[in-house]
Amino acid sequence: MNKNLELKLQEEIENLKDEGLYTNIRTLESPQGAWVEIDGKEKLNFCSNNYLGLANHPEVSKAAQRAIEEYGVGPGAVRTIAGTMELHRELEEKLADFKKAEATITFQSGFNANLAVIPALMTKKDIIISDELNHASIIDGCRLSGAEIRVYDHADLESLREVLAKASEDNPEKILIVTDGVFSMDGDIAPLPGIVELAKEFEAIVMVDDAHGEGVLGSHGRGIVDHFELHGEVDIEIGTFSKAFGTVGGCAAGSKTLIEYLEQRARPFLFSSAVTPADVAATIAAIEILKRDDELVEKLWNNKEIFQDNMKNAGFDVGKTVTPITPVMIGEAKKAQKFSERLMEEGIFATAIGFPTVPKGKARIRVMLSATHSQDDLEFALDKFKKIGRELKLID
Ligand code: PMP
Repeated sequence: MNKNLELKLQEEIENLKDEGLYTNIRTLESPQGAWVEIDGKEKLNFCSNNYLGLANHPEVSKAAQRAIEEYGVGPGAVRTIAGTMELHRELEEKLADFKKAEATITFQSGFNANLAVIPALMTKKDIIISDELNHASIIDGCRLSGAEIRVYDHADLESLREVLAKASEDNPEKILIVTDGVFSMDGDIAPLPGIVELAKEFEAIVMVDDAHGEGVLGSHGRGIVDHFELHGEVDIEIGTFSKAFGTVGGCAAGSKTLIEYLEQRARPFLFSSAVTPADVAATIAAIEILKRDDELVEKLWNNKEIFQDNMKNAGFDVGKTVTPITPVMIGEAKKAQKFSERLMEEGIFATAIGFPTVPKGKARIRVMLSATHSQDDLEFALDKFKKIGRELKLID
């Protein structure tokens, strides 16, 4: 390797370590679940986006196995060249039905869905108005489009109105407002009804990334659009299968015209192979489970109430979350890392999150609750959080 580059990278790595921003990636010796095995020991899993436990659900795993037997392991090439398997079409139809949208298109991941959709729709002649806390994949998608990017204060409709009014005066060809649905590091929800109203007033396009809303918000986990009953009013809904659905892949939902256009112009669709038959079949099975009953979704929300109420009563700051994402605010990155290390010693896997994922000085432990956690699991965790919180002088 180039010597200069090698030295530069080593220096950067040392800097990350000094600042407490170096991530120690854990190796799991078990499937995703309420508990996972790390270094031969069982740890309570507070890190996974496996909200409903579907990543290791027998019905979902069986569907993947059957798909491998029937369709093999790979899609061959990109769908526009090698043809698309009927399974992929079936998933897109079932997703559209589940989300009550006209049509959907699937991608290799949620990240890719944002990289695919935004540059396909927006050009240098356009303005994108983006929430300041939007996910990295939205930011990258916006940059890739070449459109001018303007940022509004987080979830602030007044700020959005100001930025929109100015953008509208500047007379671009199109204006796109883009926001996370549920903000992944804070657990708060975008004010989507207000955003839709403003978009109508200024004739802007609305796009929401529902990665953390699918399987969590709305009836049977149909997502943020269903939660606010805004069917047909949000132009583009982005989704991922890697969270509540428990598999891997991403999607966009919207009008038939939008989806037809994306199949012709979205570069990750045109130049990268589709997700595997196993993933597609597993995602179909996950949707079937959600449609059948919402028991898992209710359990998830019940766990949220129990855990967050008890954490607040104990004196922890859990930010402004209104969803099962529970940020336990610590502040300094090194302290957050220490907290995470102590949790691991006490049997809990909960990663510290620092800059650049969250702003400097706002490091936290992000607890991801799941329907798979039992009442005993939550009580075990609450005891440990209180013990370490006192040790590190975060609570009295
Ligand atoms: N969008 C948001 C809002 C996310 O939180 C994430 C995952 N962290 C993604 C997109 C990316 O999804 P995927 O893991 O499917 O690429």
